[in-house]
Amino acid sequence: MAQIRTRFAPSPTGFMHLGVLRTALYAWLYAKKHNGAFILRIEDTDRTRYVEGAVDVIYETLKICGLNWDEGPDVGGDFAPYIQSERRDSYMKYALELVEKDMAYHQDGAIRQKTPSVGNTVFRDEIFGEITVNNTEIEDQVLIKSDGMPTYNFANVIDDHLMNITHIIRGSEFLSSTPKYILLYEALGWKPPVFIHVSPIMRDENNKLSKRDGDAYVSDFIEKGYLIEAVINYIALLGWSPKGENEFFTLDELMNEFSLDGVSKSPAIFDELKMRTVNAHYIRNLAPEKFKELALPFIGNPPENVDVLCAALQPRTELLTDIASQVDFIEKPCDYELDLYNNKKMKTSPETALVALGEALWAIKEHEFSRDDIYNAFKALADDSEVKIGFFLYPLQVALTGKQTAPGGGLDICIMLGKEESVKRIRTAIEKLS
Ligand code: GLU
Repeated sequence: MAQIRTRFAPSPTGFMHLGVLRTALYAWLYAKKHNGAFILRIEDTDRTRYVEGAVDVIYETLKICGLNWDEGPDVGGDFAPYIQSERRDSYMKYALELVEKDMAYHQDGAIRQKTPSVGNTVFRDEIFGEITVNNTEIEDQVLIKSDGMPTYNFANVIDDHLMNITHIIRGSEFLSSTPKYILLYEALGWKPPVFIHVSPIMRDENNKLSKRDGDAYVSDFIEKGYLIEAVINYIALLGWSPKGENEFFTLDELMNEFSLDGVSKSPAIFDELKMRTVNAHYIRNLAPEKFKELALPFIGNPPENVDVLCAALQPRTELLTDIASQVDFIEKPCDYELDLYNNKKMKTSPETALVALGEALWAIKEHEFSRDDIYNAFKALADDSEVKIGFFLYPLQVALTGKQTAPGGGLDICIMLGKEESVKRIRTAIEKLS
């Protein structure tokens, strides 16, 4: 059997929509799973929709996703060039061939294809099944515009054929144009490729996930603190169901699992909460060093012991952008009312806090500055006075952070901030309480 060749054929019209990335992903997975080739082709014949910089966005997005292409504008290949505006001279000859065969005609400087006036156009889509359209419903499509440029649809078909594309995976918004494409393949005597149309990603039952929602682009999600691996994993499962129960897949695992029979006909509804959960999973599984590298830009001025902070943050972070609000105490404790020392569960109050902090200050100053040593000192104090260790730890957390919830208990925060800073903050808290 011939090598499977899929392509991603974006038009450079701006940022990359999540749905467009998913289409590219499916095309990549399908090709790679079958040891095929994945081709990148830029469809830029419509200069009015061209956006400066959009081609770079396409390259960058595919790269960070790990969707490498075997042929494309920058890497070349047997069918170069891979940018349609650089191929503009290759289309006319096929239009003229159709004129010659009386299957197309000149009109007002343009060339139009003649649609048969009787019969049906029939094709099979791997997801939607057999589709039949009455030819009377198909207009005579323009192939070459009066300025000599091919229409978008014409260039698309010619290039898919010339580049030996075997499987076309694209959004289902192209399903209604496909009969026109089929007529072209037939007129030119070419074998059509396999069509695989994928349903859109929806915001809700009635609306597509759109730019207007403010978060439909891949870059929006990266800015929000999603890891690209999590985005890929989540969108892969929007519209495709794996066989087993597992829902976490690396790109390689997706490649092994992916198959067309899991691709759904019905539109998938985007669920950002679900995507957050997937992201949290990926963040939890990062190597500590990697997490630190990603977290540092959100931390600002790091505390003395940044590794302790990162270890505390990692399981508490769903999105990287959650970090800033968790570390707002590092520069200085947040402003707080004395009432914050009241904690029913820990049986603490501003009065008990004054006592506890006095002893905590002593314990910290008199012992080796390590988590274990200080913990043992607190434990001994707690046993002596027959209180729970929270009697010390909660007021310590409030004194050090000014917060009711912090990334770690009082002791973790103390180690994070270091001895000097902790002692300083406890003293300030004692003054405030006295
Ligand atoms: N150029 C089209 C787009 O950007 C894709 C067409 C196709 O995949 O056939 O939406």
